[in-house]
Amino acid sequence: MKRKILLIDDERMQHHLVRQLFTRFTGEQFELEWRDTFEAGLATLLSGEFAACLLDYRLGARDGLELIRAAREAGCRVPIIFLTAETGTDVDMQAMNAGAMDYLIKGEIDVPSLERSLRYALKLGETLEELRRLATHDALTGLLNRRVFEQTLAEEVERARRFGRGFGLILCDIDHFKRVNDTHGHPAGDEVLREVAQRLKAALRNVDRVMRYGGEEFVVLVPEATLKMAREVAQRLASSVKATPIRAGDKRLPITLSLGVAIFPSDGDTGALIVQAADQALYAAKAAGRDCVKSLDQVAD
Ligand code: GH3
Ligand code: MG
Ligand code: MG
Repeated sequence: MKRKILLIDDERMQHHLVRQLFTRFTGEQFELEWRDTFEAGLATLLSGEFAACLLDYRLGARDGLELIRAAREAGCRVPIIFLTAETGTDVDMQAMNAGAMDYLIKGEIDVPSLERSLRYALKLGETLEELRRLATHDALTGLLNRRVFEQTLAEEVERARRFGRGFGLILCDIDHFKRVNDTHGHPAGDEVLREVAQRLKAALRNVDRVMRYGGEEFVVLVPEATLKMAREVAQRLASSVKATPIRAGDKRLPITLSLGVAIFPSDGDTGALIVQAADQALYAAKAAGRDCVKSLDQVAD
């Protein structure tokens, strides 16, 4: 299937010209779509269907720079190439700073320059996407990493405050995991971590997020949860891991979790305090003999 490129330009002539050039590409063939207003262009760009975008610098009374900023703010990472009639270095710098991959001067565009620019923008976009994935995901389990957790927690606290509602935070720690490594070797430990991560993910709804918090610890954010709901989620996570032994090499190892549950804002009304509360609850679960769920109300003072 051909990759789709979006052209946002208020001049019909420009659309005809670009369409003509596309038919003469020697390498990859693309499907071109055209929008002629700021609003339609932005909405189409955000549809997620496009591999790259060619964007007019002047869109009627609106400005392509404004569009690129709005798109980036909405989380859109489609590579964008500016088309401009102006040749000043100002435009070049502004386009670059707004997040454009390249810019082409309208009067000078020909088949090789357009084809080359698109090819580079697409490749660079893929590379950036890969770097972003590496920066946000844990390499062993594929889960979101600690850094994303810190960000997500801050956002969740912000949202919870604004809408006056709570959320649950669950810390999950594998019981006696060091023994798995010591007895069966580090690679077996890695296999257990990967399988636990998959089971946790599979046991959650889409809105709940599980991330790797540290070595053999995972953290789950449960939006809009009461204590009862969050405890039920924690219990489900525990069961999903305990239900069947985990295959590591040629062994099948029984694995259990200890879980600590805390609720924002009653157990802590900042990100740091809610993590601390869940950690205390987790500690209580370990102290109670492991393989169990504890919440802060069950922690003895
Ligand atoms: P407890 O029940 O009290 O939680 O005991 P534990 O043995 O699970 O906890 P402890 O903190 O003593 O040991 C955690 C171990 O997890 C130590 C560390 O080597 C191991 N670990 C951390 N990250 C990884 C990893 O990525 N792969 C493997 N195989 N082991 C890891
Ligand atoms: Mg631990
Ligand atoms: Mg442990």
